[in-house]
Amino acid sequence: MSGAVAVGSMILPITSCGTKEEEGDTGEAQMSQTVSALEFTLPALPYAFDALAPHIDAMTMEIHHDRHHAGYVRKLNKALSETEVKGDSIEGILSNVTADQTGVRNNGGGHFNHSLFWEIMGPDGGGQPSGDLLNAINTHFGSFEAFSEQFSAAAKGVFGSGWAWLCVNEQKELFITSTPNQDNPLMTQIVSETGQPILGIDVWEHAYYLNYQNKRGDYISNFMEVINWAKVEQNMKAHM
Ligand code: MN
Repeated sequence: MSGAVAVGSMILPITSCGTKEEEGDTGEAQMSQTVSALEFTLPALPYAFDALAPHIDAMTMEIHHDRHHAGYVRKLNKALSETEVKGDSIEGILSNVTADQTGVRNNGGGHFNHSLFWEIMGPDGGGQPSGDLLNAINTHFGSFEAFSEQFSAAAKGVFGSGWAWLCVNEQKELFITSTPNQDNPLMTQIVSETGQPILGIDVWEHAYYLNYQNKRGDYISNFMEVINWAKVEQNMKAHM
């Protein structure tokens, strides 16, 4: 997932290539203090706030991206400055984070989950997948209709806040699972069903309450109409 920037490289003076000795020294000193720090940034939404309407309304998208996701990024950076978690990417960090490291767990999960969520939706989405993804779905679930039923049931079945996922496991098989809160299947120290998420639906009330109130099922069926299947297939191929 994009969005990781080494702090050290951001503050290293551009003149550090050795034209002036003092400036080069300053750069090295700053580098050595911050070399292991990662600072994540909020990725831009890849389309306009109103691009998914009427399925997902513009105000929900704006608040969800600009406030909720931004908050996860801000709190993740703070938590990482206070917590020792190994990893040089968000995926690496999530694979190492433990249940009691709640700041990194909740906000790192929040950052990864939402970054994926924006990408697997789009204004030209919906319909059915094709090609290799459709073949894999047919192999593992029998048909696209059977997949849709299972995925929607997993999303409806999340008690309280959480996510439902389509993932690739270590055997390169597709599977559907769900996780509470901002956990996800990358968290191998925390969740039981682990794998690489390639599609996810946010079923926190903040994802749908303005437009759908308590009707989570209506939100889920509308979400199916904005899935960017080409992106999901790209995610699958990157992990198979
Ligand atoms: Mn959310």
